[in-house]
Amino acid sequence: MTSIKIDRSACQGYGNCVLALASVFDVDGEGLVVLRRDTVEPGELDGLRRAAYDCPTDSITFVA
Ligand code: SF4
Repeated sequence: MTSIKIDRSACQGYGNCVLALASVFDVDGEGLVVLRRDTVEPGELDGLRRAAYDCPTDSITFVA
């Protein structure tokens, strides 16, 4: 199972991660990324890769 880490201190709230994988990423009232859950299923890996790639502040990392 793949686990995800986010760096809220680096996040600038662009929301690209939410567009890429809304089942896992959200933005809170402060406008910063939050995780709905910290693991993804195999079928969500493409969306996770897209979220990490599209994040302009490199706030998303994951370990397969
Ligand atoms: S794409 Fe990156 S900067 Fe934008 S909300 Fe997500 S984690 Fe934050």
